[in-house]
Amino acid sequence: MTDGKPSFGKRNKRSHVICRRCGKHAMHRTDKICAACGFGKSKRMRKYNWQTKTGTTTSQRK
Ligand SMILES: [Zn+2]
Repeated sequence: MTDGKPSFGKRNKRSHVICRRCGKHAMHRTDKICAACGFGKSKRMRKYNWQTKTGTTTSQRK
């Protein structure tokens, strides 16, 4: 298994399409769940504490 340039030619399956909420190319076609914002899974935006430096849900820094 080579994960370098030669294997890029096999990546032709479109499992994700453009999400209409966040605009990212992360909406799964069959699952209908956006991997970036959680659209289809939750009503609120997908957010984790580890995404921020402070470790809080808000992105505010002190
Ligand atoms: Zn999204």
